[in-house]
Amino acid sequence: MRTRVAAALMTAPNQTLVLRDLFLDSPLRTEVLVRTDYVALCRSDALYVTGSLQIPAPAVLGHEVSGVVERVGSAVRRLSPGDRVVATVSPACGQCAFCLRGRPTQCANLDLSRDRRRPKLVSNLGEPVGTLAGIGAFASAFLVDESALATVPDDVPMDVACLLGCCISAGAGSVLHGTTISPADTVVVIGCGGVGAAAIQAARLKGARRIVAVDLEAEKLDLARRFGATDVVRASTDPFATERALGLLEPSGYSHAIEAVGRPQTAELAFRVLGPCGTATILGLMPDGEQLVIPAAALVYGDRRLQGAYLGANRFLSDVDLYCSQYRLGRLDLRAMVTTVLPFSRINEAFEAMEEPRSVRVLVDVSGAGR
Ligand SMILES: [Zn+2]
Ligand SMILES: [Zn+2]
Repeated sequence: MRTRVAAALMTAPNQTLVLRDLFLDSPLRTEVLVRTDYVALCRSDALYVTGSLQIPAPAVLGHEVSGVVERVGSAVRRLSPGDRVVATVSPACGQCAFCLRGRPTQCANLDLSRDRRRPKLVSNLGEPVGTLAGIGAFASAFLVDESALATVPDDVPMDVACLLGCCISAGAGSVLHGTTISPADTVVVIGCGGVGAAAIQAARLKGARRIVAVDLEAEKLDLARRFGATDVVRASTDPFATERALGLLEPSGYSHAIEAVGRPQTAELAFRVLGPCGTATILGLMPDGEQLVIPAAALVYGDRRLQGAYLGANRFLSDVDLYCSQYRLGRLDLRAMVTTVLPFSRINEAFEAMEEPRSVRVLVDVSGAGR
């Protein structure tokens, strides 16, 4: 039995999304059908829409999502109908060598959790429709393996909970798991969208003595102060000018740099502003083929490190619990990260709203769609 869902369909790159009824399969053994409440627009969704990242069309994008479990497959043990959940693009098996070493975002069995014998989603003509990361949350319901879902307590509202699935997991995760930031440290965060804002908040949680936010937009820097930035630097399109401004604030260099933009220039900047023994952590996704150029002498003589952290090297299931408790204590400000909320029928405008200078996270309210 298939469920009719209201969906925003990507028919080809560089086209506006089309609102269409599609048909979602019933949950197989370990799958869960979730009614969508809110979905945030992530930079990667926009990169797929414009064709900078590729996905076979037609497809339903959307992955930073909250919702309520409606139906579960016969072998689902951890979740039940009525559970409030958020999703991750990197479900983990919990049993492979990477999962056992505490690196679930590198799970070797990711494909197994998405493997199924018939299409998840089809059009009214029965043609298969793809889903981004096996989720496809720009729809009134979606179907995922239970390992892709974490539960959220009743006191965390759904319109902020969705952020936990991607930008908080990545930005805060990179600070909590990918670095060893202590109160003695100085941190620079390059890019103050959702991921950068989350990294700033996590650096504050860890007590870093100086947190410098860097962004092209003054509005984002104002918000960055609210999230815990002690200093802000308005970036110039000339990365060397930005480097000089950062050097004036901290002449001996920074102990940590977090890059949340996804450009070679900003990733190289993150490395160049490090002091001796500093670590640059690159979070921004870059298309295949991009290269970084870093000064080799500074790397070796200064004991510096350059590392990637895909999705912040997060540990989704335990991290969501941690973030919910920090939200409850008032130490993680999810509300201020939501700068626009639009109804599902206006999802194309939501992509335009992402480009506004003040935009940190744009949400689409799917709670009334398709019912
Ligand atoms: Zn994302
Ligand atoms: Zn695994």
